[in-house]
Amino acid sequence: MRHPIHKEDSETDSAKATTALPHTSIAFEKRCLYCGELNNSINYTCNCKFEDWFKEYRILDIQPLVTPIYRREVIKSFRNYSFTHQQGIAQYKALPFREWYPEHLEPIGMTPLHYLKNLSSLYGARIYIKNEGNNPSGCFKDRETLLALLNTRRRGLRHAVIYSSGNAAASAAILAQKQDIQLITFVAGDTYPEKIEFIREHGSDVIVVGDENTNFETGFRLFARVNAENIFSRSKFDNWSVRNPYRVHGDKTTALEIVKQFSDNPLVCQVPDYIIVPTANGSCLAGIWKGFRELKQLNIISKLPKIVSVGIKGANPVFKAVRRKQTGRPERCDLSLLNTEDANIGSTILAEEGYDSIEAAKAVISSDGIAVEVNSEDIQNTLRDFLQQERQLAGEQAVLPEPASLISIAAIKKIKCIQPENTVVSIITGHGLKAKEMIDQLLSGYPDLQHLVADIIKKKQHDISLGSITKGRRRDVAADFDAVVNVFNELKR
Ligand SMILES: [Zn+2]
Repeated sequence: MRHPIHKEDSETDSAKATTALPHTSIAFEKRCLYCGELNNSINYTCNCKFEDWFKEYRILDIQPLVTPIYRREVIKSFRNYSFTHQQGIAQYKALPFREWYPEHLEPIGMTPLHYLKNLSSLYGARIYIKNEGNNPSGCFKDRETLLALLNTRRRGLRHAVIYSSGNAAASAAILAQKQDIQLITFVAGDTYPEKIEFIREHGSDVIVVGDENTNFETGFRLFARVNAENIFSRSKFDNWSVRNPYRVHGDKTTALEIVKQFSDNPLVCQVPDYIIVPTANGSCLAGIWKGFRELKQLNIISKLPKIVSVGIKGANPVFKAVRRKQTGRPERCDLSLLNTEDANIGSTILAEEGYDSIEAAKAVISSDGIAVEVNSEDIQNTLRDFLQQERQLAGEQAVLPEPASLISIAAIKKIKCIQPENTVVSIITGHGLKAKEMIDQLLSGYPDLQHLVADIIKKKQHDISLGSITKGRRRDVAADFDAVVNVFNELKR
């Protein structure tokens, strides 16, 4: 069945932006990645393909219109990019709708890059980590959420939906609550009760789709259908899920920051040889690649890094797609075949499908990078190596990667072509604060490291405080289209 595309009131995204603030002359256009047509659908759909997956994957892309003014403004904002700026990543002018940056927001991004001196000699490469655990919610997702939020504000909306059971939902819930936006998070029935509570405690209403046998993908397919049939957009809810094309523009800023941090002289920019990104949906990786490409287009950098995707063995669709050079349609993984230990340790990064994995696979292939897989033993060894070798840094700066993030360091040993003189940046996607028990378990038999971790967590807990938040409501609903729509209608304000 052909679903009508919901049109924006204005013809182009930039129209409203430039009308409201005449001094902004930067415009962006939204196109379908598959048919190439200009697309202004507000629920991020296109009519050009009819396979079911097309309702679920990110299919739109937003590109800046590169004019001399754009060039000048973006290069200037790159040169002036400050790691103490009050607006965080929003100071970068290559972002859509940054004029809608809200007041009194804790700045996002500007995360530290650390050189791991001791681990570098052990692993045979010049290793740096980009510590995204330093974002306000302790995770890189804040960069993505902010970009979704800017577009919601630009459209004058006060409501949003998201499908996620992890860090994306927590990040979205925190930002939405602060901006007085009603967020409804959809999760699958098999989500751990603690996670559901965690999302509610951050202020989001939660709709639990199906029973304990309903998995992530089943729930997401229903959510995607509700979106495609305009149920959310008709109720003036924005869709903040991975399908939202603004999110990856937040990840672009990670590339910009790495280049800034690598370059002593802003006029002679340096780029690392490899960027290693933990991959589930693939949006972080696709966004970082977008960022590097845009910097190259502007002649800010003269070469591109090789992009490495790393995931848990058997649970990474990007790995499968890269191996098969399949970039035209999704690859899926069968999670029932996973080793139990691998499944537990990597639970936050396992993917049967990756809803931005097609673009992520293209990024890995076109950067001449590679995709690798690691298992629970690799993660456990890396955790010990990291804490033993970099004890001082970890303790002083409260650096503790969540277990799923350690895969970007574990991957280094798997990449045979890396030489000792090569520079490698491993993206640490989130802080280990939320995985205290698992980390403790992984370090059993190493009491000194367990103490170190306990100290780091104590220090970090001081930094993250939720303040006063009204707990969100919870509704359980059958995995059925009409039932899901009814409960959404009941919860919407
Ligand atoms: Zn299309």
